[in-house]
Amino acid sequence: MYQHLSQDGSPIDLPATRALCIGRNYMDHIAELNSAVPDEALLFMKPAPALCHLSEPLIIPTDKGQCHNELEVAVLISQPLCQVSEADVEKAIWGVGLGLDLTLRDVQSQLKQKGHPWERAKAFDFSCPVTPFIPYAQIADLQDLHFTLNVNNQVRQQGQTAKMMRPVTTLIAEMSSIFTLQPGDIILTGTPKGVGPLQPGDALSVALEGHLSVSTSVVS
Ligand code: ZN
Repeated sequence: MYQHLSQDGSPIDLPATRALCIGRNYMDHIAELNSAVPDEALLFMKPAPALCHLSEPLIIPTDKGQCHNELEVAVLISQPLCQVSEADVEKAIWGVGLGLDLTLRDVQSQLKQKGHPWERAKAFDFSCPVTPFIPYAQIADLQDLHFTLNVNNQVRQQGQTAKMMRPVTTLIAEMSSIFTLQPGDIILTGTPKGVGPLQPGDALSVALEGHLSVSTSVVS
């Protein structure tokens, strides 16, 4: 069973509830997929069985077309948030880590064409591997984080939270106007460019500059 972990390896006393995600929060990723710029936040969720530890071998579906990496900054919520202002959001942040929003891209393309929801492409079991979380007090500025994904020792994604279209606290406040955020929820804040197919046996490493790095591999 998945349990949130702190950077020092100790378990965090919050339930593993779900991941709340935003699509299209970086212009460079919108451009690479030729997507439209949304006029309001494009939100979706991954259920609890999607959560797993990024440090453990990644299990990806191999019979549903391409499975893409999307490395994103992950924010762990510690208190309920219902219709809160941006100023109230920070008090409810336990900490920050990284997550992969694993996406079945071919399945998603078909769903987009039909105007259908994205769960078949994004909410499958183990579709949300996450790193341990760094306590929020150690994060100087949420909007000045740099993060990187290497696949087989080649840089595939390099992101800067300064380039988000919706900053983290704005995004979370907006989410809380639609549904109540629960303690233990993880917010995935969108992917920068560099999405691409993962293959069985690939070696991955992710880093949140100055804070953590984690290596893993795709189950072969
Ligand atoms: Zn994503």
